Amino acid sequence: MGTQPNYPHIVKGRRLGAYMRIAIMQNEVVMMQKSGAVYFSAEFGLDESLPIYSGGLGILAGDHIKAAADQNVPLTGVGIFYGHGYFQQRIDEGGSQQHLYPKVDLNASIYPVQLVQDENGQPLIIEVPIAGRLVYAKAWSVQVGSVTVYLLNTDVESNSEADRRLTDTLYPSEQGIRISQEILLGIGGTRLIAALGIQPDVWHMNEGHCAFLTFERIRMLSAAGVPFQTALEVVKASTVFTTHTPVPAGHDVFSIDLMDRFFSDYYWQLGTDRDGVLSLGQMNGAFNMTRLAVSTSSKVNGVSKLHGVVTQDLFHHWMPHIPRQDIPVDAITNGIHIGTWLADGMKGLFDRYLQYDWSIRTAEPEVWSPVHDIPSSELWEAHLEAKSSMIQSFNLPLSTSNGGPLIIGFARRFATYKRALLIFSDPDRLARILGDSERPVCLVFSGKAHPSDGPGQELIRRIVELSREERFKGRVFIVENYAMDKAKKLVQGVDVWLNTPIKPMEASGTSGQKAAVNGVLNCSVLDGWWAEGYNGRNGWAIDGSADGDVGVNGEHQAKLDSEALYRLLEEEIIPLYYKRDEDQGLPADWVNKMKESICSLAPLFNTHRMISDYWNKVYLKASARGQRFASDGFEVASRVAAYKQFIRNNWSGVRVRKVDILADHSGRIGLHKTAFRAEIVLGAIWLRDVRIEAVGSDGRQGIWKVKLEPVQQEAKGVYIYEGSSFDRSINFWKANVNVRVTPISPDFANDFEMELASWGFQ
Ligand SMILES: *Cc1c(COP(=O)(O)O)cnc(C)c1O
Repeated sequence: MGTQPNYPHIVKGRRLGAYMRIAIMQNEVVMMQKSGAVYFSAEFGLDESLPIYSGGLGILAGDHIKAAADQNVPLTGVGIFYGHGYFQQRIDEGGSQQHLYPKVDLNASIYPVQLVQDENGQPLIIEVPIAGRLVYAKAWSVQVGSVTVYLLNTDVESNSEADRRLTDTLYPSEQGIRISQEILLGIGGTRLIAALGIQPDVWHMNEGHCAFLTFERIRMLSAAGVPFQTALEVVKASTVFTTHTPVPAGHDVFSIDLMDRFFSDYYWQLGTDRDGVLSLGQMNGAFNMTRLAVSTSSKVNGVSKLHGVVTQDLFHHWMPHIPRQDIPVDAITNGIHIGTWLADGMKGLFDRYLQYDWSIRTAEPEVWSPVHDIPSSELWEAHLEAKSSMIQSFNLPLSTSNGGPLIIGFARRFATYKRALLIFSDPDRLARILGDSERPVCLVFSGKAHPSDGPGQELIRRIVELSREERFKGRVFIVENYAMDKAKKLVQGVDVWLNTPIKPMEASGTSGQKAAVNGVLNCSVLDGWWAEGYNGRNGWAIDGSADGDVGVNGEHQAKLDSEALYRLLEEEIIPLYYKRDEDQGLPADWVNKMKESICSLAPLFNTHRMISDYWNKVYLKASARGQRFASDGFEVASRVAAYKQFIRNNWSGVRVRKVDILADHSGRIGLHKTAFRAEIVLGAIWLRDVRIEAVGSDGRQGIWKVKLEPVQQEAKGVYIYEGSSFDRSINFWKANVNVRVTPISPDFANDFEMELASWGFQ
């Protein structure tokens, strides 16, 4: 705290970006009719001087904002200005984590923020309805190039003492405070946007914490006379949701009692009854914020390809009648803002050897290929410069003469699924590995555990204890108070970046991407981004084989993974690092791997690629959809609402009555036809409003579909459908063949928008 705000990279990127991108983006920018996208997030990791983030989610949000600024994407951020920030960590002699909350003076000039004022020069005050009372909030703004991030805080004179403390800390454990913060973020944030006169085209919910924003938008429409179902369609059309949490336990869930306590005088204002509101997020007897976000958005994405699939699996449990493969979840893999995370020395090299405008074209693979031509000695020098800067800033008793010891970094939140202790699974073996006097290896750890995460804090205590053991002295270090400044030093200055999560719990992970662009080699479980980044040559995969099913025999998986990690260290990583070239004394093969890592990973896992994906695949579509649904007095929205209501009212009558499979496997070449015939009862629903398919599954994977067409009307509302396939690769006899009816509409955002499907089988 107290460091001066420091955004040189943003200013630079912005200036360069302005020239290049305007021409390219102009056509697209005009598609946004109003103010572009608003991006709601409970945390933002913009700069170490602004401690309003706890981990990867916040860093991603911060990097998203910076990339939008660089690329001229019209965007506004909305978050919370936590009065005490995330805690400052001290680790005491015994390894216990101490939580310090230095009192923050919001008005002090040390923060790169400004109080938002109304047109009369008075502080803008937002009124937020929380549990039947009004809580007042002020807003601060942070300027990141062309992008403004607004942050709400309730430390306002007119509030009760308790309400003034509501926004003190990030992720409070007490549910009442937590829901209050989420109401402030979602509902207060929406009111702030309205008060500022911003009319967003797209509302982007970064994780479910902010999903109450959809309540408030429906309420505003309802107050203007728009019926609830129509308002819901309007909101949905322009709202998009990025989910980050691959396990159910990680999702925000509030009890129905708590919901009633906080919303009893608010439900009705949405233009429907209590049950109508609760149904948007109700699951397993509680109110789930992820469910709310899915119900109220037209596009959902996970943050890596693997996480996209894991999310489909997760949502499949909510809607078991829709096969996992059909659950409408896309994947946009996270990236990092290179300007923020790149070491100065590396930047100097890239400036010299890459094209002059590389920093604004980071998403183009050709831009990176000259990395192979950087003289190895220069790349190694630049790395050693970052390594010694890291060693110095943490006062480690190490040197970089002749390269210094191999240093492995492990730094991130101490959440148990990240298995910080995995590398200590066999302490004797690790001691032998680290203690080799010819080829020493050091471990540097850093990270905070959430104040209420006992097991996470226990990890820290255990590492401190281990680092004191004689055999690990001078080999194992822990750096306290992990934050962006520490993260930069580490991802730039270690040799290997280690990550050992329980697969598939690391939705994406981004710290390894920061390491990669700095020429630091990743050694990681094939989870999150690394599952798509690893190419066999650009780092190492810890692959203890056996698909890590969550919770299923975790101990066994840990044993396999740690064994794989030890073998990599002993047989590949350490020998490669210490293998020096005869002439120059360089670890030439190691440096080649660094080059391969930079070239193959930097162009993909950066925020410029990521923000263009969001722009092209998400924002433009949601913007067009939102406009279409709202135009002409909400005509499309009310039509869709009425249509859905009709389908819902009549769906119970839909049946698949009879399925026949006819095959002609006569031996003649090319003839391998399978025909399907089904009798479908649609009742009042018109046959053009449904899609009929024969759907096969051969276990978990490989679903195939054959579309059936109506050929005959049997009776009123009863039709015969037929279709055939010549696909030889499908063995219709071994697979389970079912016939499925789904409601469709050209106005739906995806094929399963109504989450309805009716099935029948042979
Ligand atoms: C990048 C970053 C993270 C995210 O690290 P992961 O290994 O991806 O979880 C967390 N905290 C800080 C301070 C970071 O800079």
